[in-house]
Amino acid sequence: MKSKAIIIGAGIAGIAAAIRLSKKGYNVEVFEANSYPGGKLSNFSLGAYRFDAGPSLFTMPHFVDELFELCDENPRDYFNYKKKSIACQYFWEDKTTLTAYSDSKKFAQEVEDKLQVSPRVLQAYLDKAKNKYDLTENLFLNQSLHRLKTYWSKDTVKAIVNLPKMEIEKSLDEVNTHQLKEPHLVQFFNRFATYNGSSPYKTPGIMSLVQHLESHYGTYFPEGGMTEISQSLFELAKRQGVVFHMEKKVEQILIKNKKAIGVLCDGIEFLSDVVVSNMDIYPTYKKLLPSLKMPRNVRREERSSSAIIFYWGINKKFDEMDLHNIFFSNNYPAEFKAIFEDKTIYEDPTIYVNITAKETSNDAPKGAENWFVMINTAADYGQEWASEIDKLRKLVLAKLSRMLDCDMATFIKEEAVLSPPEIQAKTESHMGALYGSSSNNKMAAFLRHPNFKFSINQLFFCGGSVHPGGGIPLCLLSAKIVSDQLPLS
Ligand code: FAD
Repeated sequence: MKSKAIIIGAGIAGIAAAIRLSKKGYNVEVFEANSYPGGKLSNFSLGAYRFDAGPSLFTMPHFVDELFELCDENPRDYFNYKKKSIACQYFWEDKTTLTAYSDSKKFAQEVEDKLQVSPRVLQAYLDKAKNKYDLTENLFLNQSLHRLKTYWSKDTVKAIVNLPKMEIEKSLDEVNTHQLKEPHLVQFFNRFATYNGSSPYKTPGIMSLVQHLESHYGTYFPEGGMTEISQSLFELAKRQGVVFHMEKKVEQILIKNKKAIGVLCDGIEFLSDVVVSNMDIYPTYKKLLPSLKMPRNVRREERSSSAIIFYWGINKKFDEMDLHNIFFSNNYPAEFKAIFEDKTIYEDPTIYVNITAKETSNDAPKGAENWFVMINTAADYGQEWASEIDKLRKLVLAKLSRMLDCDMATFIKEEAVLSPPEIQAKTESHMGALYGSSSNNKMAAFLRHPNFKFSINQLFFCGGSVHPGGGIPLCLLSAKIVSDQLPLS
């Protein structure tokens, strides 16, 4: 008889784990608290404007394709995307602009023309980042860091021998400042710390490998928007026979004789041979495993940044902008101090604007654009969010009006706002953190909770709050690592 696996949560990692386990022969049932799949990866409409609610940047699409191929399906029959020739448009208050072309030669030329940095300096930086990625990819991304066999592997020996090259003793900012010097370019590469919700002044220099994912693998836009990633995988999982129970919030993970034996939902016990939690690891312990002691790391690790997002239906087109746009703050150290130390809104925040109507005209009426305006903030430490949002809205409108030479507020025809407490309410992410814990110390990225529980058999964890980390590609990898721990059924 087939073994049964229960998965808690239909976030992107939960869906990917469901596909992989069903392919391994398990009968898989997913319990999801919301009425829709995808967790943070979902969408909604305001009037005639469509918005992706959460993630907007798509890298490493081969991890999605891989799931279709695993099920002997051609991904192109169900899920399509195009490579972007421009990764992002950057704007500074001093009128400097920079186009991050995906073509490396074109980008080097742009950096030389706009910032007077020689292609040789840029290439040396990118080569070093690639080297860090190559040294850690197998060890860190593709397997559990927490199994003994990992420590006997040649990847580990290679990583240890090359430890100085990882630059974990320096901050990302120190590495970037030392190598690049030019302040705009340093700020440009410092920004990649935010890809896992960290500060470039605290996260270690090894994190320069994050930009390698973008510069090497490129950035993509899924046809139909980001939500197609979760939606197409949800449909694939159903074709594989996975059963989804929507609007079913799991209340407890059942443990007997140090083994997970199922879940409690609506007061009913659902038994299984394997339990995988895709819920954020903090509430998994606090709410679903009250009899277990929460590990120190989970309890104490600083949360990653959160965000306030303004979804604006704009009745104007901005030709100088692309799909991804950054309006930089004039003082990055002060901005990150505000986020991670003072936990307040910085007076001149960096603003990220995502406009999917640049790629899909259906996402906004003719002559209009759907703006997803995101500002990194502290996680939810009980700030007065209503007044913080009010203050931030004024700062953002003033900055965009100044930098785009217009009266921004007059173009807003539709509006919705998402705050850190709402991110927690919608997905159970502890304190509304976007990426689980931050990587604001030299070992944090390596000390995330394992994908299994040493002391409890048949209990596994996937998703952005556990190893290897947050963001869509790493969440997909966490599902693969979980599946690799389990035998065929
Ligand atoms: P989630 O998406 O958090 O899903 C967890 C699911 O579990 C939810 O559906 C929840 O309802 C369900 N659940 C929780 N508790 C229970 C329970 N007790 N019972 C049943 N169900 C339960 N990543 C990128 O790669 N690129 C980006 O550009 C990017 N930008 C982001 C912007 C924002 C605003 C946010 C919020 C995140 C962003 N991220 C980005 C991060 C990315 O969205 C996450 O890392 C990833 O989506 C997390 O997926 P997950 O599977 O871990 O969990």
